[in-house]
Amino acid sequence: MILHLDMDAFYASVEQLDHPRLKGQCVIVGGSSARGVVSAASYEARRFGVRSAMPMFQARQRCPHGIFIPPRMDRYRHVSREVLAILREFSPQVEPVSIDEAFMDLTGTESLHGPPAVLAAALKSKIFGTLHLTCSIGVAPNRFLAKIASDYKKPDGLTVIAPDQVHEFIERLPIEKVPGVGPKTQARVAEFGIRFLGDIRKYSESALRASFGNFGSRLRELACGIDPTPVMPDTPCQSASSECTLDADTAETAVLARCLLEQAEEVAAALRQEGVKARTVILKIKHADFKLITRRTTFAPPTQSSKEIYDQALLLLNAYPLSRKVRLIGLGATGFVPADAPRQLALFTAEKTSRKGWEKVDRTVATIKTKFGEKVIGRATLQED
Ligand SMILES: [Mg+2]
Repeated sequence: MILHLDMDAFYASVEQLDHPRLKGQCVIVGGSSARGVVSAASYEARRFGVRSAMPMFQARQRCPHGIFIPPRMDRYRHVSREVLAILREFSPQVEPVSIDEAFMDLTGTESLHGPPAVLAAALKSKIFGTLHLTCSIGVAPNRFLAKIASDYKKPDGLTVIAPDQVHEFIERLPIEKVPGVGPKTQARVAEFGIRFLGDIRKYSESALRASFGNFGSRLRELACGIDPTPVMPDTPCQSASSECTLDADTAETAVLARCLLEQAEEVAAALRQEGVKARTVILKIKHADFKLITRRTTFAPPTQSSKEIYDQALLLLNAYPLSRKVRLIGLGATGFVPADAPRQLALFTAEKTSRKGWEKVDRTVATIKTKFGEKVIGRATLQED
């Protein structure tokens, strides 16, 4: 059995926890610029129709009396690590998938913690007792169903799908609940008369492949209750990223580069917290017409330095023909290796002595920020003039 844990309205709940006057209020966490989007909304705010990823101006329209707060990622990451530590008390087979979600393989936990439903209840009360935050948990025979189950009774939910209930559950699972089925796919499957995941079974794999490609095969598998994707505990975190919607669309490289520098610092901080180095840097650009492009580059040796991550991202940006204005820019890092992994020395290129230097600068700056506050030190190029 596999367990999926999802923290409830995570950022908003952490804000309510840290600022008790926000309890019971419409709390909306998101970018403060005119074009920012909602990162999280408390359940009070959701009652007014505020949703994640909604533009902030729309959230303000729907919930004018809401309390709007910029995200405090460091704090959320800190709480996230505490949640993971509690999960790992129950089993080492834990795979975090985002800051507020993780999977756990329950194989072998029964003798110590009892049946899955008992373990899940104990986990929920441990998290609430320790962190005063609620989460929703789904338990099912596979990963895909566990994720759907955690969403089934939110907030503070616990849903267990026993193996003999899988068939019935799939029969009445609305097709749009299946990960990967967006509005487009939903419209197309509707033409086939498919409303529930169970309906997929009426079609052969080849018919589904003909219409939906590889995703057709995947749907067919899921409809039969099969999801072979394992929980992978050895990759505690597989990527780190940061992005921002610009205040105004721009094609100015200098403005975009400045965003990347800020994002490189955030990404490097996340790598340090995870104790990993990255081999791949990804640049993400969303144009004013919402067309999304990504460019990636892989390099050696892996790095944790904000300067190197920035340099790689800048190379990608400069190589990209910027013919139209940009609405959103983002930077990601992936291809992680443990930071303490032994490194092969370069034979023919002289090891850059600056590399270790920049990583040390990052660490020192982080220490100073922790001690004296975010604002006391930073890159000269990022100072407001
Ligand atoms: Mg969540």
